[in-house]
Amino acid sequence: TDTLTCPTPVAPATAGPLLPVVGSDTLVPLVDGRSVPYANLDVAASAPALRSVADRVAEVLPLYASVHRGAGYLSQVSTALYEASRQGIGAFVGARADDVTVVVRNTTDATNLLAGCVPAAASGAPGRVLVLDTEHHANLLPWRGVSGAAVRATTVQAAPSVAATLDALRGELAGARSAGDPYALVAVTGASNVTGESLPVAELVALAHDAGARLFLDGAQLVPHRRFSLAASGVDYVAFSGHKTYAPYGAGALVGRRDWLDAGTPYLAGGGAVRNVTVDDVVWQTAPARHEAGSPNVLGAVALAAACGTLGALDPEALVEHERALRERLVAGLEAVPGVRVVRVWEDAVDPVGVVTFSVDDHDPGLVAAYLSAEHGIGVRDGRFCAHPLLRRLGHAAGAIRASVGVGTAGEEVERLLAALETFVTDGP
Ligand code: PLP
Repeated sequence: TDTLTCPTPVAPATAGPLLPVVGSDTLVPLVDGRSVPYANLDVAASAPALRSVADRVAEVLPLYASVHRGAGYLSQVSTALYEASRQGIGAFVGARADDVTVVVRNTTDATNLLAGCVPAAASGAPGRVLVLDTEHHANLLPWRGVSGAAVRATTVQAAPSVAATLDALRGELAGARSAGDPYALVAVTGASNVTGESLPVAELVALAHDAGARLFLDGAQLVPHRRFSLAASGVDYVAFSGHKTYAPYGAGALVGRRDWLDAGTPYLAGGGAVRNVTVDDVVWQTAPARHEAGSPNVLGAVALAAACGTLGALDPEALVEHERALRERLVAGLEAVPGVRVVRVWEDAVDPVGVVTFSVDDHDPGLVAAYLSAEHGIGVRDGRFCAHPLLRRLGHAAGAIRASVGVGTAGEEVERLLAALETFVTDGP
């Protein structure tokens, strides 16, 4: 006989934050004149700084000076801080002994930099890069060569299942190889900034390497939320952003294989990236200096390294459990609100991070987001999340609403969002 199964209700989330972040006591004014604590459910856009990061920045602020060139005491201290930060950032993502850690501004900077380092095909044609249509624009547009890099991108549409998507990538790689025009690089997100979902990294590595290509992982949404290691996974390159990793804006990292970075086009032309300059010639440095022309962001690197240190010292299971419980409650609670639909790319994605996009039937996403902010002091994101091709294909060309959680999120903030949406669909805006 058939047995009817009911979904198990997910109990209200009561957990406190896993780590202290700054700004969580900010009061925001509501339209009715009250003030309430800000519920920041937009950490996928930018995550609030960890308390440990704020403390470290305050500590080193009086110490910064020009790095790499000054003989003065503070220049030496700053150089040591900068290089130790580079080391800490690389170690956080499991850099191999010969990997390079380039300190960049953010993930967008990293993909544009790497695009200038993809080797040309044997025919001399620009290097080929394979991407999925699920990517953030930062992992789509640089591979099209729009910023001048000699690269050619092909975009494959993700299939509804993980296995079929991997097959589509495999098929494209094999076809290109047998046509004598193989791919140099496969560039895939570690976790979608729209749905939090991901493809299995081990299988991505295997399919890229089997086709003679390298794998770049856009780690912007993965690295702050899951323990990731280049050495353990075999991924060739990873990029991530400080401001999504609980550190301030302006610093991020590209970490990976040295050979392409040593040979690639210097990302910026200027001081610090060169060995020698004459009036009509220049001898460039190897990586990372080759790509770090100009006075670097010492404080940004120190802040990012502090965030990496704090996250790296967490029990990885505690990190996953905290965010998984919040996500499960969020998804179950959203699906219980009439008219709310959660967006998914894959029917069988495993272990998504705490990023959840949804729509509310018959309501403009911008209006819903504005209501949540003005009436309830809840910050979410609305729009197309810099992933226009994906949103269009999934039937959300006009945008959707995204809620996201992290180590600083308390269960009570998720409950506030669910209660506010319930009120919205029951009473109207
Ligand atoms: N990749 C993903 C998956 C993202 O979520 C983002 C930012 O939203 C980026 C890349 C670009 O990051 P940034 O704006 O810090 O360069």
